Amino acid sequence: MPSFITDIFNLLPSDTFGTVKIAFLAYFALLWLAIIIWVTKDALQRSNSIFFQAFSILLNIVVPILGVLLYLIIRPGKTRLERYYEELERNMLEGDNQNEQNACGKCLTPADKDYSFCPNCGESLKRTCTECKKSFPNVWSICPFCGNEYADKEKHKKVARKKTN
Ligand SMILES: [Zn+2]
Ligand SMILES: [Zn+2]
Repeated sequence: MPSFITDIFNLLPSDTFGTVKIAFLAYFALLWLAIIIWVTKDALQRSNSIFFQAFSILLNIVVPILGVLLYLIIRPGKTRLERYYEELERNMLEGDNQNEQNACGKCLTPADKDYSFCPNCGESLKRTCTECKKSFPNVWSICPFCGNEYADKEKHKKVARKKTN
């Protein structure tokens, strides 16, 4: 061993390795604490369940540092906020479809599917099925009660009428 290395060791205080050990322990303790804080925040964001939150925190207390890997596997894929926005988006899309399905055929005013007449121009929004006599929004081409293809039949009738005329 070159003499300068032994010189360095001799210069260091005798309890250097003890200090290094304490520094490492402090580092891991800090990391452990940081992970517990992060898991607590993340679990609160991702779940409403107190059971899941408590389990996640306990897991990382019982299994220091590596517990976070287990937590990453079991945690819900999306945060509550992400789920909320997704649901909002889905509801908006559904709402759009409903309006599209139930708009007045004449002035395009969105109408509730229960409306019989357009609140803007008074146009009839329902048709009565020629087969089963039930009424349904007239933008639907098939009777939802008996499956009668309304629009096609109407066309056929018109064609038939033209022929007889
Ligand atoms: Zn209208
Ligand atoms: Zn019908």
